[in-house]
Amino acid sequence: MVISVSDRVLSGLAWHRLGEYLHETQVLGSIQNTLYWDQNTTMPSQAASWRAEQLSLLARQLHARQSSEHFEELISEARSEFKKVSKTGDLDQIEIDDRGKNLELLEQDLKRQKRLDPDLISQLATAKAKGYSLWRQAKVNSEFKCFAPALRKLISLRQEQAKQLSESRSCWETLAQPFEPDLSIGRLQELFGPLRNSLPDLIEKVRGWERPERPSWDLEENSQKSLCQRLLQEWGRDIEVTCVATSPHPFSITLGPQDFRLTTRVVKGQPLSCFLATAHEWGHSLYEQGLPIQSHQWFDWPLGQATSMALHESQSLFWENRVARSRPFAERFWTNFAKEGAPVNSGIDLWHAMNPLVPGCNRVEADELSYGLHILIRTDLEIAMLEGGLEVEALPGEWNSRYKSFLGVTPRNDSEGCLQDVHWSEGQFGYFPSYLLGHLISAQLAEAMRGSLRGLGVHEADPIGACIRGGNESELLAWLRKEVHVHGRKMNAENLVEHVTGSPLSSSAFLNYLEQKLEMLNSTS
Ligand SMILES: [Zn+2]
Repeated sequence: MVISVSDRVLSGLAWHRLGEYLHETQVLGSIQNTLYWDQNTTMPSQAASWRAEQLSLLARQLHARQSSEHFEELISEARSEFKKVSKTGDLDQIEIDDRGKNLELLEQDLKRQKRLDPDLISQLATAKAKGYSLWRQAKVNSEFKCFAPALRKLISLRQEQAKQLSESRSCWETLAQPFEPDLSIGRLQELFGPLRNSLPDLIEKVRGWERPERPSWDLEENSQKSLCQRLLQEWGRDIEVTCVATSPHPFSITLGPQDFRLTTRVVKGQPLSCFLATAHEWGHSLYEQGLPIQSHQWFDWPLGQATSMALHESQSLFWENRVARSRPFAERFWTNFAKEGAPVNSGIDLWHAMNPLVPGCNRVEADELSYGLHILIRTDLEIAMLEGGLEVEALPGEWNSRYKSFLGVTPRNDSEGCLQDVHWSEGQFGYFPSYLLGHLISAQLAEAMRGSLRGLGVHEADPIGACIRGGNESELLAWLRKEVHVHGRKMNAENLVEHVTGSPLSSSAFLNYLEQKLEMLNSTS
């Protein structure tokens, strides 16, 4: 049977063909993710250059698929079909909205991809893999100058990328778009301004408190891992679709609709690092697991994806800070730590250990009080390197002097200083602010969650704490799934926050939360 063009249009064939194409692209993308996972968890170091070739080939193929004329045709056929089908009454309003949004996002992504020269894509993939491997070496030897040429190369390739994309945004803003759609430096300064003013004062205030000296302690690697296992078990981990490994820098990644991976790491002398990193990465994974993948078969489509890294971060921070670092959680969970040999005699002891409130040099180990300052430093420095003419050679010095003036600490070496994070080694610029925006979003969402839980009959002063105390974190997850995860890329992060909480994003919920928590910690020390 031959199907005429008009029949094909009406029967949704163009939509189906586009879906098949996207599916194959997603399969290819997930192979790339699998290689990335392997590179960071089990790959031997000498395999780096071959891995760089593999990743470069895949990056070229993916770019070719995402910018090909065939793909463009498929999208435009689906667009014409959609125009007709949306008038026939065969689709309900939700289907019309979802399909329309998917097409709009595909058209926008295609436009970006088509502007990039394939040579640049492949050069970037090679530079990223090399950068990562040199960064690892430089970090072990604490020698920034080994990594400096790779960083310089990545900066110039990214600047070239921003030029090719030729958006009406600055270089840094253009590069930040994939992480944080619609973000501008102006808006960022508006959101971060109050933090820049308040956080150093709060740190100063806490320095002035008289707090008892708490002895430092450590836990065996096996004990730390078994505590992590217990945590994820209590938080409802399904071992048939998730996998946990260790890597130098903890991360979470999705390899397929039924394949969610996360990593953690054990840091000597920091007995809670592994535990909190696990809580954090689990939050990322829960967001991915809650995206409209299964129910709407959107795994291959834009609507099945995370809307922004800040929103992603808000989810990980919720589980790390709001839940795992909360007093009710410590009161419920401290006996498990005691059984593994931790010298804690009460929930309050564990709670204080989770919230030391001592500024340090390391971002990942930082608590909520100083975390924001780590991000402000990185954001200022990367904008300066990309747009302000800050030379790569000057980075370690600039880094150290800002740490001294913002946090009152100085890294002992580059490994503790500007080499601590993986991001720049992979050419990721524009990513860091997402972490701090994530704190703001998490706090604002938590306020809304509190209101909803009260509405559902949890009448205690702190309904989130009540759920945690009772081991009912599944209620918190259910709220996040229903209110936040389900939207995928339907709205950008700021619109989603406003949609869920009824007010535009600001730093006030975060600052209020922080001040209250500090007071509570002070009154129980
Ligand atoms: Zn994270």
